[in-house]
Amino acid sequence: PADTVPQAPEDPLFGLMAAYRADPFDKKVDLGIGAYRDDNAKPWVLPVVKKADEILRNDPALNHEYLPIAGLSDLTTAAAKLILGADSPALTEKRTHSMQTISGTGAVHLGGLFLSKFFPGKPTIYLSDPTWANHKQIFSNVGLPSAVYPYFSKSTKGLDFDGMKAAIAAAPNRSIILLHACAHNPTGVDPTPAQWTEIAFLLRTKNHFPFFDCAYQGFASGDLARDAWAVRYFASQGFEMCIAQSFAKNFGLYGERAGCFHFITYPGPNATQTISRISSQLAVLQRSEISNPPAYGARIAALVLNDPVLFAQWEDDLRTMSGRIIAMRKALREKLEELRTPGSWNHITDQIGMFSFTGLSEKQVLELRSQAHVYMTKNGRISMAGLNSGNVEYFARAVDRVVRA
Ligand code: PMP
Repeated sequence: PADTVPQAPEDPLFGLMAAYRADPFDKKVDLGIGAYRDDNAKPWVLPVVKKADEILRNDPALNHEYLPIAGLSDLTTAAAKLILGADSPALTEKRTHSMQTISGTGAVHLGGLFLSKFFPGKPTIYLSDPTWANHKQIFSNVGLPSAVYPYFSKSTKGLDFDGMKAAIAAAPNRSIILLHACAHNPTGVDPTPAQWTEIAFLLRTKNHFPFFDCAYQGFASGDLARDAWAVRYFASQGFEMCIAQSFAKNFGLYGERAGCFHFITYPGPNATQTISRISSQLAVLQRSEISNPPAYGARIAALVLNDPVLFAQWEDDLRTMSGRIIAMRKALREKLEELRTPGSWNHITDQIGMFSFTGLSEKQVLELRSQAHVYMTKNGRISMAGLNSGNVEYFARAVDRVVRA
């Protein structure tokens, strides 16, 4: 009976959003949720998305029929090229199957469900410590046990590379290793290409299975190829692997839920048959869960990805977003250094992407909320896009006060 259902804890991030909305203070600052804001703290519809939207709306052939189970093929084909590179052997050798999903979350879920059902021996999936708050519960909901590998060094506020390697080396052979493709959430800390090369070598030695979560391609550096470097490198090494790809951030299509899941199998004479069997199982999973994915956001993304002129404009829009975020990193670091706030602040500009892991303690975070109406998660993560030329100084001064307290 329903009265035996226990109360679940509130989602920390969405709870934080509600508290921010309820705060009447005029200078309140929202650094919680990872959604891009312009310099006026407003959501930004990408100009290229406005254009694509207009083209779609004026298309007399537009209807609201179901998409196929695997989604819009104009999207999935272009999305695979976007993440892997058009000349990737994983594509030219037809070793990849792509499914459209409910944004990145749906892709992580579909991948987790598939691996939970079909990966021999039900392995453990290793997640970075820390990782995106949703990973653990998504995998646990599909019955995939998870463990963690060290990732963030509290002392350097950078990568704990030795700890990461040691844990991956100690994991049982043929474990699944979840890797953030770029702009690691929540730390903003990514391995360098040289470190990725070592990680790939280690995974290969252990016969581990890489699962890439890519939620920020192009949004991190403004350069789509650069942000896809790690994924493309692993694919070039012939790994069997999968990729969850979100278009929420890089297209600003958060609520449209556009994303893809890609599975790549090993090179070899059986690859095409393997992929055909895998795609048949993914179709069964998709059909039983969502039947078919949502169409509108997928159409917008597909239109942009397949049209060279729109694509070039998208790249401009990506540079606008990543450029503003990088400028805010510089401004915040400069203000803190100007104020001589105790501690070092180089990590603010060393880290990349939507988030910065400030190193502020939970106590300081709570003081920022009660004293300065600044809203951020308790782990000290700030969403860089919440800063703008109008509030960065206010925020720096508030940080200065709590650090000195
Ligand atoms: N993975 C990571 C690491 C993320 O940061 C996010 C977005 N917060 C997602 C996946 C998925 O987001 P969405 O479902 O909105 O695409």
